[in-house]
Amino acid sequence: MHKLSDRINNLAESQTLAMTKKSRELQAQGKDIINLSIGEPDFNTPDFIKEAAKKAIDNNITRYTPVPGILELRKAISAKFKRDNNLEYNFDQIVVSTGAKQSIANVILSMINPGDEVLVPIPYWVSYIETIKLAEGIPVTIPTTIDSNFKISPEQLKKAITSKTRMIVFSTPCNPSGSVYTKDELKALADVIIQYPDLYVISDEIYEYINFGGKHESLAQFDFMYERVITVNGVSKGYAMTGWRIGYIGAPKWIADACEKMQGQFTSAASSIAQMAAMEAVKADQSVTFEMRDAFHKRRDLVLNLMKEIPGMKTNIPDGAFYIFPDISYYFGKSYGDVHIKNSTDLTMFILAEGNVALVSGDAFGDDNCIRFSYATSEALLIESVKRIKEALAKLK
Ligand code: PMP
Ligand code: GLU
Repeated sequence: MHKLSDRINNLAESQTLAMTKKSRELQAQGKDIINLSIGEPDFNTPDFIKEAAKKAIDNNITRYTPVPGILELRKAISAKFKRDNNLEYNFDQIVVSTGAKQSIANVILSMINPGDEVLVPIPYWVSYIETIKLAEGIPVTIPTTIDSNFKISPEQLKKAITSKTRMIVFSTPCNPSGSVYTKDELKALADVIIQYPDLYVISDEIYEYINFGGKHESLAQFDFMYERVITVNGVSKGYAMTGWRIGYIGAPKWIADACEKMQGQFTSAASSIAQMAAMEAVKADQSVTFEMRDAFHKRRDLVLNLMKEIPGMKTNIPDGAFYIFPDISYYFGKSYGDVHIKNSTDLTMFILAEGNVALVSGDAFGDDNCIRFSYATSEALLIESVKRIKEALAKLK
């Protein structure tokens, strides 16, 4: 018998990637699947960024870079934090990694001891919980509902904190709900956090630029929070660069140093070529990312309007990211032939089988009443996919 570690046996597969794998397999079999399960922009990486990568190859920037990233890139990220977020991170407080996913893993593995509790508001991005478990931490979730716009209150946060709580992990704009915390809401949470000297926060701001409501607000902006926050960001979403695999943190130096040590053993550094491309992205004027944001905004409105036509599909108005996270619990208890819908996973599988549209069940994000719909695709495909979903759901009685 093949013997794997308990660690890997206890690790759940990433549900976003699992659904994407499944829909690629079905597509390879010739099925006409619309894949709305992976959260990635459908736009191409802008040409000037691709040019920088080609130049990097021609200039032989093809060797190991310093573990926390090429100095010039870290300086460019430092300037980006100042320009966009009014945050002062010196270059030695920045660690560049192979995607924000690795940035988050570096921080959690560097800071969490076995038995430490980590608070995670629901709905959460799939990889938070498993990474916390990998570090033998205990994920403690905080529920929200569509009626509270999927945001936690300071009272809820305070109630969830115990003597073992070491960290909070959350995203704003949020994957999967699209919710965006306002400055006042962040300040109210910060006022609670600051009362607990050993409490740190991973503020995952990877959807920073995909914000329809106005200015992005960072949790680290409050002077008294700066020492407690690890700000995570990257180029995947804002610059349509998911495949380049570049993410980064800005953090207190002792945390950045720990992440550098961790990364030195795991990956040495991110790709030199991708780092040079990312440098162009973070230095560039923001018009490319704002154009994509405006396209996402238009698509959001389109999908929200179309979804109004689907009975029992309850949506809020997400202010950012490129997801809609409707409550679909209306369909629980309904059937079609031998298929009985008991939960969000059953409904996701039903929509895939009957509608040929791949979504992700809310269960993967901690909220079994919901389902995640990514609208990072063309308007034509969005119109077609909502039509298919509507027709499939109409079969359930
Ligand atoms: N955080 C959130 C909330 C995400 O949705 C993603 C998805 N890609 C990541 C982090 C990781 O991004 P990447 O590794 O592509 O930089
Ligand atoms: N973050 C994206 C998503 O939520 C990409 C897949 C992943 O990294 O899990 O779909």
